Amino acid sequence: MGTKSRKIVVTSALPYANGDIHLGHLVEYVQTDFWVRFQKMRGHRCVYVCADDTHGTPIMVRARTEGITPEELIARSYALHTKDFSDFEILFDNYYSTNSEENRAFSESIYQAMQKSGAVTTRKLPQLYCEHDAMFLPDRFVKGVCPKCGAENQYGDSCDACGQTYAAEELKEAHCTICGRAPVMRDSEHLFFELEPFRDFLKAWIPQHTAPDVANKLLEWFNEPLRGWCISRDAPYFGFEIPGHPGKFFYVWVDAPIGYMASLQKWCSNHGESFDAWWQNPEAELYHFIGKDIVRFHCLFWPTMLNVAGIKTPNQVFVHGFLTVNGEKMSKSKGTFVKARTYLDHLNPQDLRFYYACKLNGTTDDLDLNLGDFVNRVNSDLVGKITNLASRGAQMLQKSLGGKAGAMDAEGRALCERAQSRADAVAAYYEARDFGKVMVEVRDLADAANQYFDAQAPWALVKTDPEAARRVMTSILNIFRVLAIYLQPILPAYAAKVSKLFNEPPYVWSDVTKTIEHAAINPYEYLATRVEQAAVDKMIEASRGGPVCPPASAKVPGPVRPATEPVKAATEPVKAATEPVKAAEPVKETIDYDTFAKMDLRAATVVSAELVEGADKLLKLQLDIGEARPRQVFAGIRKAYDPAKLIGRQVVMVANLAPRKMRFGLSEGMILAAGNPDGALFVVSPDAGAVPGATVK
Ligand SMILES: [Zn+2]
Ligand SMILES: [Zn+2]
Repeated sequence: MGTKSRKIVVTSALPYANGDIHLGHLVEYVQTDFWVRFQKMRGHRCVYVCADDTHGTPIMVRARTEGITPEELIARSYALHTKDFSDFEILFDNYYSTNSEENRAFSESIYQAMQKSGAVTTRKLPQLYCEHDAMFLPDRFVKGVCPKCGAENQYGDSCDACGQTYAAEELKEAHCTICGRAPVMRDSEHLFFELEPFRDFLKAWIPQHTAPDVANKLLEWFNEPLRGWCISRDAPYFGFEIPGHPGKFFYVWVDAPIGYMASLQKWCSNHGESFDAWWQNPEAELYHFIGKDIVRFHCLFWPTMLNVAGIKTPNQVFVHGFLTVNGEKMSKSKGTFVKARTYLDHLNPQDLRFYYACKLNGTTDDLDLNLGDFVNRVNSDLVGKITNLASRGAQMLQKSLGGKAGAMDAEGRALCERAQSRADAVAAYYEARDFGKVMVEVRDLADAANQYFDAQAPWALVKTDPEAARRVMTSILNIFRVLAIYLQPILPAYAAKVSKLFNEPPYVWSDVTKTIEHAAINPYEYLATRVEQAAVDKMIEASRGGPVCPPASAKVPGPVRPATEPVKAATEPVKAATEPVKAAEPVKETIDYDTFAKMDLRAATVVSAELVEGADKLLKLQLDIGEARPRQVFAGIRKAYDPAKLIGRQVVMVANLAPRKMRFGLSEGMILAAGNPDGALFVVSPDAGAVPGATVK
């Protein structure tokens, strides 16, 4: 306290629009949110901006597969991502999209500065090209036989079987993953941003703006000439076309970090603020929170781009580690690749914030979510130690003493003052992003308060000396109030209920110095409940089943993002999800209307239909029933229908049938078809005019 008000811009890395937010992502957003909320509580002006990263080949290909535009795809992701973030209490000042006019303008002007600097060169690169799909194929769009070990079905950059990396053209029997045809080699001219001319700038910049371990790792690259960075991609590509180079687009990693600027610009426009007063102002501060996998983009290319464009570089890049679950990499087959939404379906978001805070220490160490430890810490520390102070203290005060706080007794006051005296230390831990130490302080103070509470035994005292009991309860509540203030950046909804309990507005840091005596206390609202192991088990089970699988060709990750693990194929025998009704069968037993009404039938538009390799009766359908994304259904209609002719047709779908795991993926419903006695099949369709998702009744 006592520091002058700072102006701070904070960013988290932009999540890619071709996927769901998962618990690994949340390690970053949650810790950035802690830090930002802390700065705001301290009275600083702090703006937290982020955006969806929307460009690149995977977005384009996925949209194409689903039969929608890339803009529709990214709008859908935007809605899902922002809902996940707000449900986890992550509060952005602005959450934008890299596919914005602000971003295009910044990208073009920074590119022009890069060109002017003389560091943009052109080189011809031979690349695999699919003549059928009329596109150059990124590494992950080529599969073939590993040139080193002969394993089949390997990607164009590395072999999963032997771990070797190689160039795509070395792959044997290469084929395009979109159409299956053999690609050809073609020369393409690409733009490179040369880093070598900026060697001295970078060598000085890196140690000043990153932690020593991060800097040391980066500086290893400086033992040899720095390689140029390819900043162009060939059409078709979803992104910004490069001025003066028709058919060439900025590589997604060029305009992604520029998206930080665009999001801040948008916030400034919305709030009548000046962009330069925030970003370019030497008095203002700029911090990026990122994972260690994207360090080179943020600490080599990005500062160099900003530097040539005369734009201020970040004060510091805060790098964190990866999430492991139970000590291992997140795994779909083990059910530990948990999506944000799946977590929210089973558990309370504040518990994850609490647990992550306990484990975060401001370094690049990986963070382990040990599920047993998670249950124990929430139950013993958050519920048992911390919250217990308020629930016992406030409830007893309400029940037996008219809800009125009195004065603290001497011992209680000393404990409260001790808690208050830790404010600067706790603030220093927050500033250093050492949230684990914040939690240790809070837990220690809670332990001391619980000992005092138990020693005073107010539940007995209230019968013999109610005013003495009131003094104990008043002390306990005041100590708890200080702890809640310390916890507010980590548990904002929790702290909001505490301030309500004491009839106060949301806390600022200096509220720590106050005490609440001789005042009425509002009714106690529950603040935290125990986590049940059964709920954790259900979440893991739900993650193992894997909700909707995106279409196979869309699972290809972006060129630089880590691959997500492939969904493990289930082992059940193949069964058609849609089985024709045999006409010759007698009519089944009578059901009442309520039984019929349980069935949720919907008009569905077929957005894609594909053959399923290894199943000669099945078609894989993507069905639009007006939901955020299409449902995948395997239907046994391959004999009767040409997949191409089904696309765009309307069918009737049973929308509430339990999803069924099949060898080829999840089937999330079934479609209705009439089956003649001779086995011929006829898909049931609504008449023209029904919108996708219309109920059939
Ligand atoms: Zn191999
Ligand atoms: Zn192809």
